[in-house]
Amino acid sequence: MKKDLLSKSKEELIEILKQYNQPKFRANQLRDWMVKRNVSDFGKMLNLPKELRDELQKDFVAYPLEVKEVQHSEDGTVKFATKTLDNEIIETVIMKYHYGYSVCVSSQIGCAMECVFCASAKGGLVRNLTENEILAQILLAQQIVEDRMGHVVFMGMGEPLNNYVNLIKFLELCRDDDWGLIIGMRNITISTSGLVPQIRKLAHEEFQVTLAVSLHASNDKIRGRLLPIASKYSLKDVFDAGKYYTEHTGRRVTYEYLLIKDMNSSDSDASELAKLLRKHIAHINLIPYNPVSFLPWEAPSQEQINKFANMLKSAGISVTIRRELGSDIDAACGQLRNKKLAK
Ligand code: SAH
Repeated sequence: MKKDLLSKSKEELIEILKQYNQPKFRANQLRDWMVKRNVSDFGKMLNLPKELRDELQKDFVAYPLEVKEVQHSEDGTVKFATKTLDNEIIETVIMKYHYGYSVCVSSQIGCAMECVFCASAKGGLVRNLTENEILAQILLAQQIVEDRMGHVVFMGMGEPLNNYVNLIKFLELCRDDDWGLIIGMRNITISTSGLVPQIRKLAHEEFQVTLAVSLHASNDKIRGRLLPIASKYSLKDVFDAGKYYTEHTGRRVTYEYLLIKDMNSSDSDASELAKLLRKHIAHINLIPYNPVSFLPWEAPSQEQINKFANMLKSAGISVTIRRELGSDIDAACGQLRNKKLAK
């Protein structure tokens, strides 16, 4: 199995290049091609000597991920599958908005959270993705659409706060404008099912990232049926942690609320949620449920979705309904899963 060069530190790259009798400055050139110019084909790195390009091609790969499949949705969303060096398949989604591209990355292979409605939960957690596997998803997304990703959202497969160490390493890479990817912290959204201790820890890291918390219910009883993690942390714990995050970072927390028919989307659910949210500086994003072929759940009617949103609005709450993107290619929220497990 060939090793990748993206995962190497500056010192390691210099060491490797020394074996090919290359000076130190080649490390920066190589890194520049891989990160700033999104080039993963050593053959195209034209300011490197031809001999070196050939040697690298023979001995290494640039990125720890290899694109296996690219699917285009009718609405312009692109989903691509990549293979890791240990032969796992992960999926990443590129969304186009009026303000530019946003990439939805996976943070783990599989997921340990066992949310009953989510496709990614099936099969459990295989392993965490490394910070460079997360970075490679963004670089490959930029390569595929030949444009910059202005936003990164951690809403693909996995629970990012359950891969805390690598998530922090990734954020540090984004802050390192010499060696990393230049992307503003405010343009990165971390979505979590509500891991309270990690939310509090993240509040102290001094990253200005946006935090999105999956609420999905207005009381602990219903939340407990949907998200097993809710039996560990109550809604009160989650809101307290959200408040703490805002106090320490100055960033407003977004709450996500999945609308599932006959589960959490009635008028009384809306008024209970309005009451709950009134006390917090928050924004709520309603996500109509995207169907998953092997799960029984469905979204409420459009009429009920609008009614739910309007009830919140009239209670003075800032609310948006998430536009469903890419569902024709199973690229919408909650539809990503580990394909190796799907067989
Ligand atoms: N583990 C993180 C990221 C998961 S994906 C989290 O839980 O927040 C991002 C969002 O999609 C989460 O709010 C998740 O609950 C939601 N989601 C999962 N399955 C879905 C589905 N089938 N339809 C719509 N949203 C779904």
